Amino acid sequence: MKKFFLFLLLIFSGNLFSQNNPAWITYFEQSGFTATPRYNETMEYFRMLADSSEYAEMKTFGISPQGRELKYLIVSKAKTFTPTESAKSNRPVLLIINGIHSGEIEGKDASMLLLREILITKEKENLIDSLTLIVVPIFNVDGHERMSRYNRINQNGPEEMGWRTTAQNLNLNRDWLKADAPEMQALLKLYSEWLPDFMIDTHTTDGADYQYSITYGVEKFSNIYSGTAEWLKNKFIPYFERGVSKRGFLIRPYISLKNWSKGLDDGITDWAATPRFSTGYAAIQNRPSLLIETHMIKPYKERVYSTKAALETVMEFISLEAPGLKRLNKEADEKSIEEFFNEKNYLPVAYKYSDKYKMVNLKGYEYYLDSSAVSGSQKLVYTNKKKDLKVKFYYDVITSDSVRIPSAYLIPAEWKYLINRMLLHGILVDTIAADTLLQVTRLKFKSVDFSKTSYEGRQRVNFEYDTYQETVNIPAGTFLILTNQRTVRVIANLLEPKAGDSFVKWGFMNAIFERKEYFEPYVMEKLAEEMLNNDEKLRNEFYNKLKNDKSFRDNPMERLNYFYERSPYFDNHYRVYPVMLLY
Ligand SMILES: [Zn+2]
Repeated sequence: MKKFFLFLLLIFSGNLFSQNNPAWITYFEQSGFTATPRYNETMEYFRMLADSSEYAEMKTFGISPQGRELKYLIVSKAKTFTPTESAKSNRPVLLIINGIHSGEIEGKDASMLLLREILITKEKENLIDSLTLIVVPIFNVDGHERMSRYNRINQNGPEEMGWRTTAQNLNLNRDWLKADAPEMQALLKLYSEWLPDFMIDTHTTDGADYQYSITYGVEKFSNIYSGTAEWLKNKFIPYFERGVSKRGFLIRPYISLKNWSKGLDDGITDWAATPRFSTGYAAIQNRPSLLIETHMIKPYKERVYSTKAALETVMEFISLEAPGLKRLNKEADEKSIEEFFNEKNYLPVAYKYSDKYKMVNLKGYEYYLDSSAVSGSQKLVYTNKKKDLKVKFYYDVITSDSVRIPSAYLIPAEWKYLINRMLLHGILVDTIAADTLLQVTRLKFKSVDFSKTSYEGRQRVNFEYDTYQETVNIPAGTFLILTNQRTVRVIANLLEPKAGDSFVKWGFMNAIFERKEYFEPYVMEKLAEEMLNNDEKLRNEFYNKLKNDKSFRDNPMERLNYFYERSPYFDNHYRVYPVMLLY
């Protein structure tokens, strides 16, 4: 009897809600959980949330290349709607970014449902008791409006979805550090102003088929402050996995295939995200973050509700851990300065997994190989028969390259556009006030190898380099970047050429690799003869090289060039890194 009454009450309150507030039913719900709203409808819903609650404000952080406003909603029970006010309240700031790949849009629909429960029906109002929440409903707004049924071949709904990249065809989730896209530049300003204590980036996977509704990733290797890695591994992950499971969804860490063309057979790997990715970027800002990847083949409804379960769980956890999280982030900033502002410590800039693996359980589906008339080879066929698989998991991600951090970098005034990018990241920049003679370390590149294809609109470059000391006059106006600041990891990842996402590797400085002056052989002949006559050491070296190096011996231009490179006419800037290092 009691049960029946409770049942009636639930039905009644549910109806009351929908009848009295039809405006609050989301587009996703109205569609029968199969469709997602367009930009205008989404922003209208968020505007209504802001208008209806004293705890929410809607703001604009930028304009997209096609002219759409980039919006964010700030939710704060303490009514702290600016970074300064928020900092005073000492509540952690949680940033949720949806639609960085706008075809993967569960996070937007999940955020709308969750915000309604927090701000309107107030069932979950307690989730904002001790944190400030910032939600970006759609980050890649232009891509979002390039809607089609055919934008994600592997994905099971929504009915229509946005496109992966921006109107300029840039992938925002490769752009965090280089910040080429206007959208990313705007977001980084927002990020460095608020400096969120925790960030969530919501996606949908590609890859193998398996039973999990949702997978996730956090940074826990040498690319992040060790205390933050420990906190994520020991505190966050157990709570998060439990919370999402408790809400009825199968969850596990992100499944990164060792060999993407072979499915699960070759095993799966862990990895450390580099700062072109959201979580890798938060890591070098000394902040924890979470990547959410729902499974592309699950129905859209399941993907939205599992994302909602994940968002709720994180909010619950941060509420419980609020003071601890604030302390952790302060410690990460302070310790990062101490760690790298001495001579002993090296900053990791590249990572790889070792050969070590362990066998792990994975809830998959039975699959088999069959011959294919289409491809003419074997095809992978998944059945819908659940199976507990055992797969190799390469868990051991190690540092494969690192650099010693100088106490400062000097950047000549003519490279100001690098400075403009650095300012977006919250890096403090000084300027040399008067001409100063300084002994600096310089880098000269060799074995320079340009990519054959364009990547993210850029021609990337690989190289090696030699270092040497030089005493140079540093003119007034040269930019000075001291490394004893909380963004030391960001600075080094941008300015250390070895780092995979450095300015120079992303092709920001390709002109320094170009030779601009050439000799006429008949002019060089005369100069070379003079040099041979006047310099005994050079003469011996040249004849030795002729004797021992056949390709050199047989190459007349190279023989002349040998003298040009050693003459005062040769360009002493050629392949020299304009950025100077002060140890
Ligand atoms: Zn994605």
